[in-house]
Amino acid sequence: DAGTLDRAEQALRTTFGFPHFRGVQGQVVERVLAGRSTLAVMPTGAGKSLTYQLPATLLPGTCIVISPLIALMHDQLRSARMNGIRAAALTSADADRAATVAAFRAGELDLLYVAPERASQPHFRDLLNSAPVALFAVDEAHCVSEWGHDFRPDYRQMRPLMDGFPDVPRLALTATADGHTRADILQQLGIPDEGLIVSGFDRPNIRYLIRPRQNGGSQLKQLLTEQDGAGIIYAPSRKKVDDLAAALDRAGSRRVLPYHAGLSPEQRAEHQAAFVASEDMVMVATVAFGMGIDKPDVRFVAHAGIPKSIEAYYQETGRAGRDGDPAQAIMLWSAGDFVQARQRLSEVEPERLAGERTRLDALAALVEAPGCRRALLLRHFGEDPPASCGNCDNCLSPPGVVDATDLARKLLSA
Ligand code: ADP
Ligand code: MG
Repeated sequence: DAGTLDRAEQALRTTFGFPHFRGVQGQVVERVLAGRSTLAVMPTGAGKSLTYQLPATLLPGTCIVISPLIALMHDQLRSARMNGIRAAALTSADADRAATVAAFRAGELDLLYVAPERASQPHFRDLLNSAPVALFAVDEAHCVSEWGHDFRPDYRQMRPLMDGFPDVPRLALTATADGHTRADILQQLGIPDEGLIVSGFDRPNIRYLIRPRQNGGSQLKQLLTEQDGAGIIYAPSRKKVDDLAAALDRAGSRRVLPYHAGLSPEQRAEHQAAFVASEDMVMVATVAFGMGIDKPDVRFVAHAGIPKSIEAYYQETGRAGRDGDPAQAIMLWSAGDFVQARQRLSEVEPERLAGERTRLDALAALVEAPGCRRALLLRHFGEDPPASCGNCDNCLSPPGVVDATDLARKLLSA
């Protein structure tokens, strides 16, 4: 009702300091406050955290947040606490575990973050029975689906846990779910079909450029001279990241650092902090880099090789231009990338093979598309976009037309 929404908008201003809800945020918050289970599919950077953090401050009891990565939890804790929200995480490394448990039991927490591995233990269920729970928020909910691009078996234990608390509403959140995955998430988490809320996926300020890779190294050096501002270059392996970072750093036009899971936690933290603080640094990284990094002024994201799927491409390129200013997404692909990806399908478990093959075919269709890249992307996420966007390579210079002009020029100058 109107009173609830008023209270929510009041909290938005006073607790979070934002004048308005963005996109479907208000819709999601309203449902959650009404106690109705929901799956919100919202792009990266759209502000999913707020849709459970805000209700957590208004509802009696604690909101339990299922989150897949410790690093993500710590970022979230920091920003929630900065807003004066009473938040804690239950991790194995947590020296204050006893204090966290006591605070939960005393009803002193708005938010309790926990990883699915821990949440599925009987102990945790007992803990939840010792104090009121306001809401279950399942972040990165695509991890529950084998159709999603990042399946985590422990997410499957969340349904039985939540079923033990039938009166507590559920809020599942994800940025990356096609129709198939959405239906699966609803089912796996026990959320009714009418609980699905999908927000617009278009990122109009991002220019999509997809071209064949000729010579990765020199093409990327050239690219760095053309791009202003901070950027991320995704490479497919740790070794490629190290090689590319070294080569680009030697080229010397600006600071270039590597990031991958083979670096020590200290190095990773140091490189990440340098990147976040910099206005023109380039991070060459594996996909280990990006989740939970809040840097609004990333001006370009390049892929030196193909991403895992359209979902992954959308999520990774979505890290560019969160401030709304013009940004570029540049993919340099080769036929060999697809050959290798198809070879890797032989290692996939049989029950996931069909999904993986579909994902690869969709990606191939994107790179080979003669028409608007954005239209293809948005249709992939179930939207019905106009036929051309005016801000991708194919709209700016339709493939056929460029060739003809080139040919004509050659003929005329001959
Ligand atoms: P997501 O999880 O959807 O990728 P986050 O929850 O991390 O996004 O939020 C991304 C950024 O958007 C954060 O910096 C957050 O403070 C900001 N934000 C969220 N809601 C609003 C809003 N209503 N108005 C302005 N900024 C917002
Ligand atoms: Mg998030």
